[in-house]
Amino acid sequence: MTANPLALLSQLDLEAVARVSEKVDLPALLSAASKMSDGQLRQLSRLVTGGTSEPQTLPAPNADFFGLMDTLSAEQREVAGRVRAFMHAEVAPIMNEYWNRDEFPHQIIPKLRELDLIRRIWREDGSRQPDATVMEGLITLEACKVDVSTAVFFGVHAGLALASVALGGSAAQKAEWLPKMMDLEAIGAFGLTEPEGGSQVSQGMRTTCKRDGNSWILRGQKKWIGNSTFSDFTVIWARDVDGGEVRGFIVRAGTPGYSVEKIEGKTALRIVQNGLITLDDCRVPDADRLQETQGWRTTAEVLRLTRTGVAWQGVGCAAGAYELALAYAQERKQFGKRIGEFQLIQNHLVHMLGNVTAMFTMCLHLSHLTDAGKMHDEHAALAKVFTAAHCRATVALARETFGGNGILLEHGVAKHFADTEAIYSYEGTNEINTLVVGRAITGLSAFV
Ligand SMILES: Cc1cc2nc3c(=O)[nH]c(=O)nc-3n(C[C@H](O)[C@H](O)[C@H](O)COP(=O)(O)OP(=O)(O)OC[C@H]3O[C@@H](n4cnc5c(N)ncnc54)[C@H](O)[C@@H]3O)c2cc1C
Repeated sequence: MTANPLALLSQLDLEAVARVSEKVDLPALLSAASKMSDGQLRQLSRLVTGGTSEPQTLPAPNADFFGLMDTLSAEQREVAGRVRAFMHAEVAPIMNEYWNRDEFPHQIIPKLRELDLIRRIWREDGSRQPDATVMEGLITLEACKVDVSTAVFFGVHAGLALASVALGGSAAQKAEWLPKMMDLEAIGAFGLTEPEGGSQVSQGMRTTCKRDGNSWILRGQKKWIGNSTFSDFTVIWARDVDGGEVRGFIVRAGTPGYSVEKIEGKTALRIVQNGLITLDDCRVPDADRLQETQGWRTTAEVLRLTRTGVAWQGVGCAAGAYELALAYAQERKQFGKRIGEFQLIQNHLVHMLGNVTAMFTMCLHLSHLTDAGKMHDEHAALAKVFTAAHCRATVALARETFGGNGILLEHGVAKHFADTEAIYSYEGTNEINTLVVGRAITGLSAFV
């Protein structure tokens, strides 16, 4: 059915028509309008009224395109919803200021305590809840959609540090530390990487421990240690000079010979406080040696668990960037149209959504595998490689969608763009995790 040009024109805002008539030959335009098709008339109507004649409700950005959240239990969704609300109410309003200042907002710790999240992952005896890894993933996803640094603070404390005590500590050590850690009353850090030993730290660990009566003397340095500038203790991994075994120690803040220097000038995760730790003949009582570790095997077991969490960081960071980009594309106008109406921008958005959907699906399944006790190193390594790479590609497209505004902190996507670089490099670099998967699928090791 053909629209009546006069009926359509009668809906026009006359002030807008008057403004147009200053710029165009209105009689000629009206004559042309009488020969126009429906589509052309609607386009003309939108042009003259500034697009207000056809109010349109656009879909709200939602990175969960496959409805994966619907496959979760009501309780899991409730916890995810609480983390989402916390991030929007408590972290989003202050995160740019703290990111800019390269500082950690300590005031969020009591509010995080109220959420009581850690008990949804760990039990006080150091065992894991049946759905611990799914829960950890959802918490990480929701946190990273808003701010990756907050998830890293949580992951270092409730993942790396707590898992070290849970897997390597005696019953007495677990009883002393785990309840306090779950209440965020004692904050932990995890010291493995060294200035000269990142990827090769398992083979080239230079930090040493030497037994001396009822205590141990620790010597060496640890680099990049998250939370360490303010943590109550740091788990330090060191090689025994007598026999070469790797041992873990709970080193309390303030121990003589233990010092932390903040790493300045980071261009990613600026809210996370990373430290360079020096152990200068640091004496630690044998009671603070993690009593049940089994050499490097325990360290590797901790990393296997937490690597899944880092893969989830990639999902959350990319999902957050995608939703920001979609919202911006629905709002921002150029050439008289929302940029979301341009095919090339839709191509970016669909590409981002495909990445996020693949990453989310992969990590959710990986978490189910882990909770079922079926996850192997190469599974977590593949997820880390895949999500880190696809997160990087996704945030780049999101940033591009914002044009120049994409490099301004106030628009949000710039922080995701920068933080992705840290996700890409820690918990095993792209190359190291690729070598782990490559060895598993070929049966041939390409490690040097
Ligand atoms: C923001 C941030 C937070 C961190 N937090 C912590 C923490 O809390 N605790 C902790 O212990 N550590 C932490 N780390 C350290 C992190 O785990 C290391 O940065 C990571 O393991 C890589 O080590 P590296 O930086 O020394 O790089 P290197 O090992 O020097 O690697 C440099 C490059 O060489 C490549 N490479 C190395 N070996 C090989 C090989 N055999 N084959 C092919 N390529 C290879 C790497 O893939 C990489 O591209 C953190 C790092 C960052 C950036």
